[in-house]
This record gives sequence, C-alpha cells and structure tokens, in this order.
Amino acid sequence: EKCVVAVDGPSGSGKSTVSRRLASRIDGVYLDTGAMYRAVTWAVLQAGVDLGDPDAIAKIALETELSIGTDPTAPHFAANGVNVDAPIRGAEVTQAVSAVAAVPSVRKHLVALQRAIIAGHPRIIVEGRDIASVVAPDADLKVYLTASAAARAQRRSSEDAADVAATQADLARRDQLDSSRKTDPLRQADDAIEVDTTGIGIDEVVAYLLNLLNS
Ligand code: C5P
Repeated sequence: EKCVVAVDGPSGSGKSTVSRRLASRIDGVYLDTGAMYRAVTWAVLQAGVDLGDPDAIAKIALETELSIGTDPTAPHFAANGVNVDAPIRGAEVTQAVSAVAAVPSVRKHLVALQRAIIAGHPRIIVEGRDIASVVAPDADLKVYLTASAAARAQRRSSEDAADVAATQADLARRDQLDSSRKTDPLRQADDAIEVDTTGIGIDEVVAYLLNLLNS
C-alpha cells in the first residue's frame, strides 16, 4: 500500500544516509528535496543572477528544467540537461542555497514538483526541511532528525574533507538562515518523532524507523 515517510532536520543530522537506506529497505524511492533547491541554485549562479534580486531568482527557477533522480542507491540530478551531481555539493552552491530557498515563488514551484513526484510513487522517503509541515502533512511517518552541532560538523566535514571548525560555522550560518526565513522555515512538526542521532549508528536509526513503520 501507499507509504510516504517525511524525514526533516538540519544538515549533518544523518537525514540523507538514513533516508536512502530506509528507502532501499522498503523497496521504495528516495526524494532529496535539498538537492532540488541546490540544483536550482546552480542554475541561478550559472545565469549570473544577483542573489539579492528575488524576482530574477524566481524567473530562473521557473525556467530551469530539472531532472530529479529518485533511485536511493544513485540519485542523479540534472539541470537544463547538465548533470549537476558534483557542483550541487560544492562550496559555491552551499553558500548561496539558503538565499534561493528563501524566495517564496521558488518554494511554491519546487513544492508542487515534490508533491507530483510523491503522488507518482507508492513508496517514497522524502527528506528536507518542510516535508512534514508543508509538502506532505499526511505522511504515514514523520521523523525529525537532530544531532549535536559537533556531531553534525564532524559528519559533514568527513564527507567533503573540509575543516571541522569551518564546517561547524557554515552549518550554524545555514541553520540560522533556514530557521528564520519567513516562508516555511525549518521547524519540527508537532506530530514528528524526534530522533537524536548523536553517537547512534545509522543502522540503529534505520532499524528503529523500520520498526515504527511496521507497527
Ligand atoms: O539538505 P541540504 O543541506 O542539501 O539542503 C540545502 C538547502 O536547501 C538548505 O540549507 C535549505 O536552505 C534548503 N532546503 C529547503 N527546504 C527543503 C530542503 C532544503 O529550504 N525542503
């Protein structure tokens, strides 16, 4: 039967790894909504648009043709026919993405795409910041992952080989922007189950969520 799982939380909380493994375990697909905001940000930077100009950002976002991979073992993304798997993880996009994600019409556009993808798949794990609160409030399971600032920075910097202190500062900067924006800020939905992943193995978190799904 239909199964939609919403996984929200800040970066470095373990969302991506947990969501991908969970999707594989239930034979479902995986939607990385952060990658959608990142792919649009890549197109905005590519177009040379001023990040202080929300109308110009919105125009590019609406014009960008996105190809959104949902295979949990290899979720490839393209924008306007160009594979963007590497650049959407780069420093330039990471630096600019919160500004692009704060533009209301960008969010409206991407949320509509996300809902269409969810409607097209019977079993799907959706990760992001506003999935339980906005994108899929009727999800069968809503999870909010957290971890200490140090644990999150440790995970992120081991992924991209960056300095831990610099990563922690950058995560704090993005958390602040993502939690304080006017449209759909990062927040824990009232009915989401909070899981603190600090010091817990990913396998343990996945097993716990599988258990919740089956009960
Ligand atoms: O999860 P990830 O770090 O890839 O997300 C990148 C950025 O995209 C976040 O910092 C946030 O600004 C934005 N985002 C969002 N809503 C989502 C997912 C991501 O605003 N559902």
